[in-house]
Amino acid sequence: MKKIGPLEWDNELCKFCNLCVQMCPQKCLQFKGKELVIESSCLKCGICTKYCPEMGLQLAKDSEDRKEQKQDTEENKK
Ligand code: SF4
Ligand code: SF4
Repeated sequence: MKKIGPLEWDNELCKFCNLCVQMCPQKCLQFKGKELVIESSCLKCGICTKYCPEMGLQLAKDSEDRKEQKQDTEENKK
């Protein structure tokens, strides 16, 4: 998982289908070789993450929430 701007991109799940790049209304995503790069014009709208068929892209806040939830449930088990 790589942090790119406000997003987290899982380069192991990514199939380089280019959908996220095409769907971004700001045209701020692009591939440079095998690296996804983002420009600062990103609106954090999350549209790109919804189109990714591999679940390889998410807003970083979502993943932090999920991590916290996981920690919560793990703590509840103790
Ligand atoms: S969050 Fe929105 S603006 Fe940012 S890269 Fe994804 S689609 Fe583009
Ligand atoms: S939509 Fe998902 S699988 Fe396709 S290029 Fe973007 S991150 Fe990779």
